[in-house]
Amino acid sequence: MLYLCATPIGNLEDMTFRAIRILREVDLIAAEDTRRTRKLLTHFDIHTPMIRFDENCKSSVAEKILQRLQAGESVAVVSDAGLPAISDPGADLVRLAIDNGISVCPIPGANAALSALICSGLDTTKFLFAGFAPKTKKNRREFLEKLSTVEATIIFYEAPHRLKNFLAELAEVFGERQAVLARELTKVHEEFLRGSISELIKNIDEPRGEFVVVVEGNKNFQPIEENPLEFYEKLLEQGLDKKSAMREAAKKFNVSRREIYNTLLKEDTK
Ligand code: SAM
Repeated sequence: MLYLCATPIGNLEDMTFRAIRILREVDLIAAEDTRRTRKLLTHFDIHTPMIRFDENCKSSVAEKILQRLQAGESVAVVSDAGLPAISDPGADLVRLAIDNGISVCPIPGANAALSALICSGLDTTKFLFAGFAPKTKKNRREFLEKLSTVEATIIFYEAPHRLKNFLAELAEVFGERQAVLARELTKVHEEFLRGSISELIKNIDEPRGEFVVVVEGNKNFQPIEENPLEFYEKLLEQGLDKKSAMREAAKKFNVSRREIYNTLLKEDTK
């Protein structure tokens, strides 16, 4: 069994009873940073052997872990904080395990994105986790533009030294929307800053600590209306005969069938 085990994102009391038991019982812990995880293990009196499993050594270590899983051992993956595989290593190992018939099991617990969302006061019924924005300006712009039409609440992770710049670009692409900065979640200096994106930019001078950015979805998004011809063609693709498709398209756009027919003829002669 491969366990995906949550660890605290700041407050050690967020370690679950089950996580402690599993980390004691498994044969091996695959940790993003063994020195950091060592501190956690010492705190909870856990003495299981560890292997380093980070972004740089992923594929070779993943193979070793797979061999041990195939030999019948159990392994727990932990990242530095929160849920492994969420903006942290783990997802590739899960894929590898599944492809090789190994069962995977979540050991849930702290996660920065959901902790920020539930305290944001924004819509929690539909949300999209966007993680970290790309580092290069061009890719970041494209990434934000694609997200700008999303109606669901959007959650980003961002490093403190990039936060102001990120918010400025967010304001340019998203416009004046409500947003929340969730800072230092579960820690002594936990705080939530709420307001429009530009208000938030004004209110943070030198961002310190860890941040989650939660942004209201696009409430004014209007999908581009199809024209009668596009609608007619869509109906044909769906299997309707020409006559019925023509009739439906005419009805929907309040035009005559002749009008659609003439446009079709024009398209054909182009
Ligand atoms: N796997 C983690 C999780 O489940 O939340 C996320 C790891 S990701 C590498 C680190 C980012 O998560 C930080 O840059 C920050 O955006 C966010 N984060 C982690 N801990 C946080 C905390 N205590 N308060 C606010 N944001 C946090």
